[in-house]
Amino acid sequence: MIDYENLRKLNAPFEEEFQREFIEFLNSGWYILGDRTNLFEHEFSSYLNAPFCIGVGNGLDAMIIALNSLELPSGSEVLVPSNTYIASILAILKAGYKPVLVEPDIETYNIDPLRIEEFITEKTKAILVVHLYGKSCQMDSISEIASKNDLYIIEDCAQSHGSEFKGKKTGTFGVGCFSFYPTKNLGALGDGGAIVTHDESLALKFKTIRNYGSIRKYENDLIGVNSRLDEIQSCFLRVKLKYLDIINNHKRTLANIYFSHLTSDVIKPVEHKDFYDVFHIFNIRTNKRNELKEFLLKNDIKTEIHYPIPPHKQKAMKGVLHGSYPISEEIHKTTLSLPISYFHTESDVIKVCETINSFFR
Ligand SMILES: *Cc1c(COP(=O)(O)O)cnc(C)c1O
Repeated sequence: MIDYENLRKLNAPFEEEFQREFIEFLNSGWYILGDRTNLFEHEFSSYLNAPFCIGVGNGLDAMIIALNSLELPSGSEVLVPSNTYIASILAILKAGYKPVLVEPDIETYNIDPLRIEEFITEKTKAILVVHLYGKSCQMDSISEIASKNDLYIIEDCAQSHGSEFKGKKTGTFGVGCFSFYPTKNLGALGDGGAIVTHDESLALKFKTIRNYGSIRKYENDLIGVNSRLDEIQSCFLRVKLKYLDIINNHKRTLANIYFSHLTSDVIKPVEHKDFYDVFHIFNIRTNKRNELKEFLLKNDIKTEIHYPIPPHKQKAMKGVLHGSYPISEEIHKTTLSLPISYFHTESDVIKVCETINSFFR
């Protein structure tokens, strides 16, 4: 059986280092906001080449805290891609703003820069871009639109740790919001997240809000929340961060096998020199998606669908999101995510390719 994901196998190479870090953590007796979280924040910001990184509880909170800190007028509109994972939309709602869905480019699966401007009104204050599947959005045209229209850029980097656009890392174009959910390219052994920024005063705000609005003990300057990156997760994340480029390179090697071995009966991700893609997900598209998924399972290959239901069709979004989003629906109907984890071998991927090719033959 080729699993789609297997967290035990994914983390097996790091177990000894995790154990060493855990014992040191245990001996320290310091469980919340200690040296290790501080060190991880510094190491991750230097990896990204951004001055400030603030660890928080998870990726959703990273986006909520980032959006809240902008203190936009209530009812402000925030543009967001219609095919994103629900978290990006929930963050806008929880921050008290209005999500306005913009269709993606059918080739990159990311927000289509050519469609953004038609949705800008006097209420639009920010764009929440999502670097979906590990590929950066087109950040030069998006940055240009944002500065022309005086919009903030918030980046959902939950799938794009280490991904680049024209040599610059995602998360450093606007305010970068990361998730360290275990399956992500940089995954903890539980929940975790971080916010990355160039703006020192915003950084101080994030740091204050994540801890009850307090920087000095028992002094509350802002209306905050409790969303701290757990010290124990910082231990594990410091280990994983050392291997992030190796993990990303392995996924890129597997992606290259998919690119060269897969039949042209399926639509593969676009490749372009502007994007350094980290393939959090390797998706293909085909009108025979459901039959192919079934066929692969019969041949002991597990796949996933990211995502089966678009946000505007979710029950929770009834009365909240309106309009029709045919491109998004087309992606949701035809996309299939193939195994591409750190533990998969080149021969696993060759087997997946051969099985897919035989389905179409
Ligand atoms: C995983 C993910 C999130 C949410 O991260 P959590 O840490 O689970 O809150 C947000 N956006 C995208 C695109 C994701 O893939």
